[in-house]
Amino acid sequence: MTSGFSDRVLAWFDLHGRKTLPWQEVITPYGVWVSEIMLQQTQVTTVIPYYQRFMSSFPNVQALAAAPQDAVLDHWTGLGYYARARNLHKASISICEQHNGEFPTQIEDVVALPGIGRSTAGAILSIACGQTHAILDGNVKRVLARYYAVEGWPGQKTVENQLWAYAETNTPAKRCNHYTQAMMDLGAMVCTRSKPRCDDCPLQSDCLAYAQGRQTDFPGKKPKKTVPVKKTNMVAVLYQGSILMAQRPPTGLWGGLFGFIETDDEVQAMVDTLPLTQAEIKTLTPFRHTFSHFHLDISPYLVIANDINSNAVAEDNFRWFHLHEPLGVGTAAPTQKIISQIKQII
Ligand code: SF4
Repeated sequence: MTSGFSDRVLAWFDLHGRKTLPWQEVITPYGVWVSEIMLQQTQVTTVIPYYQRFMSSFPNVQALAAAPQDAVLDHWTGLGYYARARNLHKASISICEQHNGEFPTQIEDVVALPGIGRSTAGAILSIACGQTHAILDGNVKRVLARYYAVEGWPGQKTVENQLWAYAETNTPAKRCNHYTQAMMDLGAMVCTRSKPRCDDCPLQSDCLAYAQGRQTDFPGKKPKKTVPVKKTNMVAVLYQGSILMAQRPPTGLWGGLFGFIETDDEVQAMVDTLPLTQAEIKTLTPFRHTFSHFHLDISPYLVIANDINSNAVAEDNFRWFHLHEPLGVGTAAPTQKIISQIKQII
């Protein structure tokens, strides 16, 4: 007879689960929280160096809350989905203001923090505080959708509710911390997206997707929509080895990050409005940046200025950055791409 779902998952975890990741060395709610947020949409191997740098600069909630947002975004540069960093920073301030700097231990208080949903809250409280809570991140959704052959896209509320119900049913009262980690590991290491290793899986004997030979049909795909394409010109002004960037508004696309001047107008016309003299305009290599909901075709330009009226561009959100010194602020991937192009040609 097959033993229970969670018993098998835990036995597998004891033999094969990951137990030496940096956030597992000394387990704290803060460390688990930071790692869980970084791991959303990002692979473990990518996260590790980011996590280590982040924790060495911001070792606790107080240090994070006291840091300027630019420094936090700088530590996130390259990880993408920057709202995660902004929310982490905002939540650390709330924890200091509302919970005396102690990470809350009531699930309602945790989900009330910016950027923490039900699954992340459950993961933090089970792993770091030994509480019993179900989780349903992308990995767990995949395992459960396959094991129970749940039809439909988990983005639909009814499908998600069904998966939550299965997650709750199987979450054990004992060793929930290990079970939570085990389910995430099983999804990441065995029940993988494209080629699940069913022969190494502790759930194979009664997995419905395996029995039906339909592993990759689950979870159901998001209904396809045509992704729109937008276009923009990004203009980098270079003057005496420094480039001019502006900070974007705090919310919205790339909120709070620094980037180049964007224009939909003809570039020469825009440059004519800048207080530059004898500016030479070079066309850089265009490229596409893809977001989850649209493609952005970027045409980058480099404007090399021989003289500049610096007062005229000394508005609050503009700043000069030396091309060969660390920026110290957050920038999006396309901004870094353009900076690399500039470094190659000057
Ligand atoms: S048997 Fe295969 S499809 Fe089923 S849960 Fe295990 S790895 Fe996933």
